Amino acid sequence: MWLGISVLTGLTFVGYFTPIRPLATELLTWQMGGVSLFWVLFFTGATYINAGWLREAVCMHMCPYARFQSVMFDKDTLTISYDVARGENRGPRKREVKPADVGLGDCIDCQVCVQVCPTGIDIRDGLQMECIGCAACIDACDSIMDKMGYARGLVSYTSEHQLQGGKTHLLRPRLIGYSAVLLVMIAALVVALMERPMVSLDVTKDRGMFRENSQGLIENIYSLKVINKTQQRQDYRLELVDAEGFQLQGKTEISLAPGEISDVPVSVALLADKPASSSQTIHFKVSDVDEPWIYSAADSRFVAPLNR
Ligand code: SF4
Ligand code: SF4
Repeated sequence: MWLGISVLTGLTFVGYFTPIRPLATELLTWQMGGVSLFWVLFFTGATYINAGWLREAVCMHMCPYARFQSVMFDKDTLTISYDVARGENRGPRKREVKPADVGLGDCIDCQVCVQVCPTGIDIRDGLQMECIGCAACIDACDSIMDKMGYARGLVSYTSEHQLQGGKTHLLRPRLIGYSAVLLVMIAALVVALMERPMVSLDVTKDRGMFRENSQGLIENIYSLKVINKTQQRQDYRLELVDAEGFQLQGKTEISLAPGEISDVPVSVALLADKPASSSQTIHFKVSDVDEPWIYSAADSRFVAPLNR
């Protein structure tokens, strides 16, 4: 079962980069291409090992979260903490015994907070890098406090200032600075998403160097991979740009369904008798027929013999 879940996870990850329905079919029919297969196996293995075997070791030794968090901390940061002043001295006692009468604090040393901790630490030892902030110890301790008839919050979200009897300052320069950086990053992400081309073009030149067509013109063969990244059917025009002396032959208009990928074979013919050089760069462009400002371009090489 665990391996099955890992395969599904691997497939889902790879599905972000390549259409997932054909990918699933390819997996079931053992026809998956090398690159997709590598990444599906990679993420399957990573999920199986990390979440199946390493588990909390990932949190404790590999996850950058705690290390990253610790450099952002200050005395007003809300963390999960044990109230030492209230809890100590810790120790067992009967419910009806008042802690102060026997020289004890509110912690009954039941260890429930340690037992529920997924990384196995004792929050009473203070803030530790292994803490993933899941708050399981807060709930566990609150339930004990309820049973004992004590106030909740012996383990709680609080700040160092508050634990020392002061007040937590929420608005402070560090927080405003981090928020400003976050806003700039969100804005950059939104701009990047809005600016990304909604059509993509990849050009692959045929392995054959060149050939002479029926009109006696030198031609090269290419495969144009066009992806419609929109959620609607779109009509696209294929063309050569800045290509005086060259002619695109084959399909020049295609219609693609939402998310469809199409491989279009085309040839480019050299109209002049002699090429300017044995290898020239040519520029392909695919643009939306109705909204020509939506386009994508890609370069390839045109090879031709200098002496015919
Ligand atoms: S918040 Fe979670 S990880 Fe941190 S000490 Fe409590 S139970 Fe453990
Ligand atoms: S659950 Fe609460 S009372 Fe029990 S050991 Fe932890 S801190 Fe003390």
